[in-house]
Order: sequence, then C-alpha cells, then structure tokens
Amino acid sequence: MKTPTRIALRGDLLDFTADPGLSQPHDDAARAAVRWRPDHWLLVENGRIVDAQPVSSLQPGEDWKRIEHPGRWILPGFIDTHVHSAQVDVIGSWGSELLDWLSTHTYPAEQRMADPVLALQNSQLFVHALLSHGTTTACVFPTVHAASCEALYETAKAKGMRMIAGKVLMDRHAPEALLDDNPQKTAQICVDLVERWHGQGRVAVAITPRFAATSSPQQLQQAAELMRLAPDLYLQTHVAENRAEIDWVAQLYPEARSYLDVYDRHGLLGPRSILAHGIWLDDADRAALHKAGAQIAFCPSSNLFLGSGLFDWAQARDAGVAVTLASDVGGGTHLSMRRTMLAAYQVQAMRGGRVSAWALLHAATRGAAQALHLSDEIGTLQPGCLADITIWDSAVHPLSQRRQSVARDLHEQLFAWVTSGDESDLVETWVAGVRQFVRLD
Ligand SMILES: [Zn+2]
Repeated sequence: MKTPTRIALRGDLLDFTADPGLSQPHDDAARAAVRWRPDHWLLVENGRIVDAQPVSSLQPGEDWKRIEHPGRWILPGFIDTHVHSAQVDVIGSWGSELLDWLSTHTYPAEQRMADPVLALQNSQLFVHALLSHGTTTACVFPTVHAASCEALYETAKAKGMRMIAGKVLMDRHAPEALLDDNPQKTAQICVDLVERWHGQGRVAVAITPRFAATSSPQQLQQAAELMRLAPDLYLQTHVAENRAEIDWVAQLYPEARSYLDVYDRHGLLGPRSILAHGIWLDDADRAALHKAGAQIAFCPSSNLFLGSGLFDWAQARDAGVAVTLASDVGGGTHLSMRRTMLAAYQVQAMRGGRVSAWALLHAATRGAAQALHLSDEIGTLQPGCLADITIWDSAVHPLSQRRQSVARDLHEQLFAWVTSGDESDLVETWVAGVRQFVRLD
C-alpha cells in the first residue's frame, strides 16, 4: 500500500460552521458561525483535511511533514461563481455599457479562442491567475469553441482543481464566427464534452447558454435537454444585468413575464443553476429563484464598472435566494475575490445597507460551496473536505500592518483586511493538499 502523504500546516485557522447572517457582525448567530482557531495544526492526509488541533496540545509525529506559518491566517480557498476565462484580454476596457461592450471588446477576444494553442495559453494564464488571487474553485464561461473548454478542463485537471465550466451556447445576435450554426452539431459537441469530462478529476460540466438574447427559444430548449445528460450537471447563464439588455430580451421573448421567466419557461431553473447578476429582478422572480433553489452570482465590481446597477443583497436574502460572489472579468476589472468583497460592501452601502466581513468571507467560501452542493468537498476546513486552502499575512505593507495592529477585535481586523489590502498578502495557495502557488518574497 502506498504511504499516505501527511502534511501538518501550522497557522491561525478561520472558517465558518454556519451562516453568520448579513449585517450584524457581533450578534449571537454571527459569533456561533465563525470558527477561529489561532495557532493550530491543520492535518492533511492524501489531500484531505483530517483534523485540526491546537499547537499547544499536539506535536505531529515523524511521519507528518510540518509546514509552519505561525501568525498567518489559513482560510478555505475562495470560490468565484461567475467568470469568463477568455475575457482576461479585455479587462479594464474603456467606455461602454453591456451590449456595446460585448460587441466592441468581448466578442473579438472570444473569437481568438477558436485556436487550440491560444486557448491553452489563455487557460494556463487564467488558472494561474486564479490561484495567485487565492481562488481555488471557479464557475467559468470559456467560449463557444470546444477547444476552449478542452483547454480549461485540461489545465484544471492538471492542477487537481475543482472547475465548473461548459461550452458557451449562442445561436443568434453575435458575430457569425461565434454562433452555433447547427443544433445537431452543437448537441454532439456538448454530449462529447459531458461524456469525456464531467466527473474527470474535479471537473464538472455546466450547460452554458450565454443569455436569452443570444440563444433562440430552440436553443434554450436544447439546453434543457442537455441538462438531462447527467443528474449533476450545472446550468450557468446571465440574467437581468442591464436595462437595455432587459428591454431587448422582452422584445425577443414577448410571451415571458420577465427576463428570468424566459429561463423558467424553458425549464432552466433548478438547484444547480447559477445566474449571474440578477440586479433587476422583482418579487415574483425572487420567489421563482427561491422555489428552484437557484443561486445569484453577484458580480459587484463588474456591475459598478459597466454601470449596470446596484444589486440588493438583503432583498435577495430575505426572499431565501442564495447569493454568492463573482468577479465576472472582463466586465469586472480583476480576478480578486478580496476586491470583489470590497465592491459588494460598497454596493450595499450605496443601497443604505452594511454587510459584515463575515458575510463577505462566508459568501466567497462556505456559502458558495453550499450553493454549489459541494460543501462536503470545499468551502471550509472541516475534516473530510479537500485541502483547498490559502495562507495569508494579515498585512505586509506598513500602513496595513499599522491598521491591523490597532484593530480591537477579529472582525475589525478582517474587515480592514478585506477592504484595504490586496493579494500581496497571499503567501501560498493549496489545491487538494498540493501547493500550487507560492509568493516570491
Ligand atoms: Zn458574465
């Protein structure tokens, strides 16, 4: 029998055992949900977390490889629930709202991914960038090209990463080179990708109609049929991001009660559906999302950057809708989940609300894992989970160090960390017990 790989990681462990609520950092529910274990050993065997013990009470034996980061934070890796890998080329593009931005910047960049060599280079750059931002799981839109999916799956599998992604479906209102021109061919490509990749390593396939405007009713119908290929496929798309987009979808689908209803009518709302944005929803939409168990991937930096609108997190939460956090790139301006958390706080502040650091961190870890039905595998430091973890300094720059040193409690420390620091604090990123990113000091 192969000798198990045993690793003991020393640091201050922070994760959640329950939902800390949205806006009350010091109430009983929040206190009960936060699990703070300073100076502990996190024990990892064959890539999986098996235990955590105080350093004062346990010295791991000779057969444990010790990796010591005293005084540093060990967190579960971040989960980015909506991001476009091919859009790294258009991050920070000037001057347009969603529909213009798609045609001016995004579609030309996506067309390049027909080339398998470029697609592989893009995937490698993208996956490395995720890891160097502390993101260990992502729900990704590559492009319409099978090559771009293959490249992303290959790259994720080589890293042992949990990756949810699928071929983007579009059959109208986009450049010819990006359109599915033959439904049989589209079905064949998707079936082939599901058969060869779904469940390979930690890859999961998501059926991915881009949005209602670029899929005909027939293609949305086809997406629903493709969902039946396996019981645990995901569905990802966009909804109600921008006013002009909503008007356009209303013209294209006059029979639908709302934008979200287009998807509901086609049977695309379910517990594994991830809908990006959802800024302009009404009560009936939120009730439908709650009933289906679908989640909203809130993309605050993108929403601010493109001027799309201010998503109301509290309203969604009150309606029982799961809300996760996402970078969206290049609608957003970075792959940083920390800056995404900051933007989420700012958007709620503009709406007159306040979100706790606990809520932000929870949404990017345990909350997302639960919404994706993956809480047995990711999102916490619970025994049984794979060791997808990040190790952070609380501060490296003098100003941040000063701010941390005067913080009166952990919430204040963490909130200042989320809102005023950056990824220079990231020391290491681990995926399934293997170190995949190390900061060069
Ligand atoms: Zn998007």
